Amino acid sequence: MKIETLAVHAGHAIDPATGAVSAPIHLSTTFERDVEGAYSRGFMYTRNNNPNRQALEHGISMLEGGEAAAAFGSGTAAAMALFQALAPGDHVLAHVDAYYGTSRLLREILLRWGLEADFVDMSNLDEVRKALRSKTKLAWVETPSNPLLKVVDIAAVAEIIHNAGALCVCDNTWAPVLQRPFDLGADLILHSTTKYFGGHCDVAGGIVMARIDNEFFQRVHTIQYSGGAVPSPFDCWLILRGMRTLPWRMRAHSENAIRVAEFLAQHQRVERVHYPGLQAHPGHEIARRQMSMFGGMLSFEVTGGREAAMNVSAKTKIFIRATSLGGVESLIEHRASIEGAGTTSPENLLRLSIGLENADDLIEDLDQALG
Ligand SMILES: *Cc1c(COP(=O)(O)O)cnc(C)c1O
Repeated sequence: MKIETLAVHAGHAIDPATGAVSAPIHLSTTFERDVEGAYSRGFMYTRNNNPNRQALEHGISMLEGGEAAAAFGSGTAAAMALFQALAPGDHVLAHVDAYYGTSRLLREILLRWGLEADFVDMSNLDEVRKALRSKTKLAWVETPSNPLLKVVDIAAVAEIIHNAGALCVCDNTWAPVLQRPFDLGADLILHSTTKYFGGHCDVAGGIVMARIDNEFFQRVHTIQYSGGAVPSPFDCWLILRGMRTLPWRMRAHSENAIRVAEFLAQHQRVERVHYPGLQAHPGHEIARRQMSMFGGMLSFEVTGGREAAMNVSAKTKIFIRATSLGGVESLIEHRASIEGAGTTSPENLLRLSIGLENADDLIEDLDQALG
């Protein structure tokens, strides 16, 4: 099956009790035991599992081509479970431009619990090789990265990491459908389903997927129900509903984004545009190999520094000043001030999440804001 068809049908079944085409939402926290004491229908207590979460995990696993998945209440809770599946003393190698919340999780919480971590620019393979240690157990790849849209060669990094006997995770939040990390050698995939899977800025969630349902993934699964950071049945239902249109939305986000990127690239008041779809982008060739389209995220640097960038975001009328990404409405954000102290984002940088409006209107809005 092609991906559009899978997105519509994976994790979907007609409700046997009523014939409902759209799945019911099972709010029940507890499920009936058989007379002999077993749970032959497969559900016992909602933190352990429930029908909506099972459908979501099954659906996203089929879409990404993995054997198993565990859904969480946010992308960060999913990342937390992956790190907690390691042991004190284990070393994590993470991309320097990984999502700020992920590196903060490592730096502020997990180092205190005895994990070790190094942050390297994974778009440079020599840096990856040099940073490996005998205790390296996990590599955290994220591409395109946030907010500089650096492109990491997933297949090349996965090979280096596997040769070192470690696991390779790919945070695929920014490029679902467009990028297939399991085909490129990743062992695990993480999504913040708050973003493109949900797709409408109205639900938070996260998921970990495993190419092979091995012992490491079983630890993640145990952390899911023992740790309890699980999503509600309604949230699972919303995220799976979002998945039904995901391939078509990703196509439209990408088509809009390339037009906006090209417009910005020739604008006098723009110093640099970071979008892997532009030929001038340093990761363009790798992105062409590992992505079918270039996604809906881009960032650009405004001539004149922080104040000039703030002025542009103050003037947009269609772009909404807000964090996050992946919804139908376009968002504009000054990353350095959202990330605060210790940020590595340039002060004149604005990040755009390109939505599903007409690209002509988006370009006109940015044109007047850049004025
Ligand atoms: C948002 C995001 C996360 C964290 O997800 P939450 O759902 O906000 O916890 C992780 N990785 C990337 C790339 C993100 O954009």
